[in-house]
Amino acid sequence: MSGAVFDETGVDVGLCYQCGKCTAGCPMAAYMDLTPNQVMRLVQVGGAAAMEKVLGCTSIWSCAGCLTCTQRCPKELDPTAVMDALRQMSYDWGRCLANRRKSWRFTSHF
Ligand code: SF4
Ligand code: SF4
Repeated sequence: MSGAVFDETGVDVGLCYQCGKCTAGCPMAAYMDLTPNQVMRLVQVGGAAAMEKVLGCTSIWSCAGCLTCTQRCPKELDPTAVMDALRQMSYDWGRCLANRRKSWRFTSHF
């Protein structure tokens, strides 16, 4: 999964060292089932179980795209772009819940 995310975003999630600064600054973290650093970690881990978990989580749909995580990351990674790519993958790969499809159609316009 990290390869697909890299192809889509240019972000090497393998460089994330789980400092948590993205999550600490995220205004939506309290409403997410996986925090931004947990999303990054699952993409790092890869494999079927991690993929199912991350593509089925609510976090990728709760993300407001505010870029705070991207600005705070000491490794200059871009969790915002990762969230965006995961939304797209969730939709394309049929992991997107029906009630999220309207959200995807909305965000895909930006
Ligand atoms: S701020 Fe960057 S390095 Fe730290 S956990 Fe988040 S993505 Fe990983
Ligand atoms: S872009 Fe998304 S994940 Fe990053 S801080 Fe904003 S709401 Fe949180």
